[in-house]
Amino acid sequence: MPARFGGGWLRGNRMKKFCVVGCMTAILLAAGGMRAQQAAELPALKQEAAAEVDKMQLLTQQMVDEIFSFSELGFQEHETSKYVTGILEKNGFHVERGVAGVPTAWVATYGSGKPVIAFITDIDCIPRASQKPGVAYHDPIVEGAPGHGEGHNSGMAVNVTAALVLKKLMDEHHIGGTIKLIPGVAEELLGTKAFYVRAGMFKDVDIVLGAHVESEFSTSYGTGNGEWSGLVSVQYFFHGKAAHAAGAPWEGRSALDAVELMDTGWDFRREHLRPAQRSHRVIINGGDQPNVVPSEAAVWYYFRELDYTHIKDLYDLGNMMADSAAKMTGTTVDHKLVGSAWPPFLNKVIAETQQKNIETVGMPKWSEADQTLAKALQKEIGAKVEGLKEKIDPLAEPAKKPTGGGSDDIGDISWNVPMVYLMYPANIPNLPGHSWANGVAMATPIAHKGSTAGAKVQAMTALDFFLQPQLVQQAWDYFRDVQTKEVHYEPFLSADDKPAVEMNKEKMEKFAPQLKKYYYDPGRYKTYLEQLGIQYPTVKTQP
Ligand SMILES: [Zn+2]
Repeated sequence: MPARFGGGWLRGNRMKKFCVVGCMTAILLAAGGMRAQQAAELPALKQEAAAEVDKMQLLTQQMVDEIFSFSELGFQEHETSKYVTGILEKNGFHVERGVAGVPTAWVATYGSGKPVIAFITDIDCIPRASQKPGVAYHDPIVEGAPGHGEGHNSGMAVNVTAALVLKKLMDEHHIGGTIKLIPGVAEELLGTKAFYVRAGMFKDVDIVLGAHVESEFSTSYGTGNGEWSGLVSVQYFFHGKAAHAAGAPWEGRSALDAVELMDTGWDFRREHLRPAQRSHRVIINGGDQPNVVPSEAAVWYYFRELDYTHIKDLYDLGNMMADSAAKMTGTTVDHKLVGSAWPPFLNKVIAETQQKNIETVGMPKWSEADQTLAKALQKEIGAKVEGLKEKIDPLAEPAKKPTGGGSDDIGDISWNVPMVYLMYPANIPNLPGHSWANGVAMATPIAHKGSTAGAKVQAMTALDFFLQPQLVQQAWDYFRDVQTKEVHYEPFLSADDKPAVEMNKEKMEKFAPQLKKYYYDPGRYKTYLEQLGIQYPTVKTQP
């Protein structure tokens, strides 16, 4: 169970230094008074935070551009983690590396006592999404290489900027509490956050403020717009017997046959599953060459549904089909869970607080060049041409009937501690997602300005909770009395499941040397666009 904020709450950082034995009660009263006084100053403090974020625009832009240039796939975010933790350590944060058995995962901490506010955001990228920023058509930096075709390169710029500003304000105004930063490693594989929870990383955390790139500026609560599913990601490895495929096929047992029969079985069964399910697969090993009966073959499934019970049902069904396919083909099968995610459920109290900050900060001011890039890209890919968003929508009620859709492993965190997920406006609307097109804006002024706006909201929302203990209490009341009243978290992980940290290793080893030539050098170039010699925006001329 996550800890509720308790006795440590009033202990400010600086207060501790001046305390002598016996003075605790007086100090607590004084600190309580201090926090009340600070709460009165909250609007001014938030304004100061926003002004400080503005002063840090150069570093924010550099982080966006640098992480974009690293382009690292899930579990292989070595350069990204080294770079970000370097900045945090230089600024006085304590960093613990290799947490939860994941080499590229870490926790950076500053401050002490309650409340503990954790910032989380993803850092991994997408296979084959390499793309020159600021160019409104497909033009990879390195052909076939991974790239930030999801925009995760901007998240740490948001959270680190916010954390550095908070640290400054906490020091200057003697604000007590603890900041933690955590990276979403291998989010695209739904690969780590359930392991983070299992490792107890959120046990002492009071509030989690997640951030994710979007084309809009928004937050949500409950099941949000209903377009979220949970999932399990499972790889099935079939083992058969090799033989000459023409000379003695009767001696062989084909593992590939089992993969194909499992797929056929699943596709027939699909008609009889709930419409809310989403399931898809890739064959990760289809054998070596046609004249050898494949002794090894493997298929990788994502099974998605709206809640734990239905996801578990799909998982059991998948396992049954794999066993049946093995029986039919005289092969054997074993499976490995490589990712899992509960559907996210976000906290109403934090969302309402955050929404006010979103409205105070407002949308970034887009330039004509930003809009030109956005419209040219929308036209290029055949999407609705409407440029960048200019307006903020009010906080919406959660969807009455969730339909399901994509997944995010923050879901597991959201069922263990009150959490929201800020969507900050750093990308172009109407894009397909997980593709080169989603990388186009991600090292341009669109991403830079959107990240600055996001950092302001993160810092301001953290101040709301640092200075108003009753809000933390209310967030936990909602978590306990509404969210988890009837639904209780059960992990999909078994005790034996381990993070799939070897995934993407070969791919990254292949591409990292080529990508390295294009790593951003902020010492020599003001922006990554400048380094690549890209005119902003580069769009196709009209016919
Ligand atoms: Zn994402």
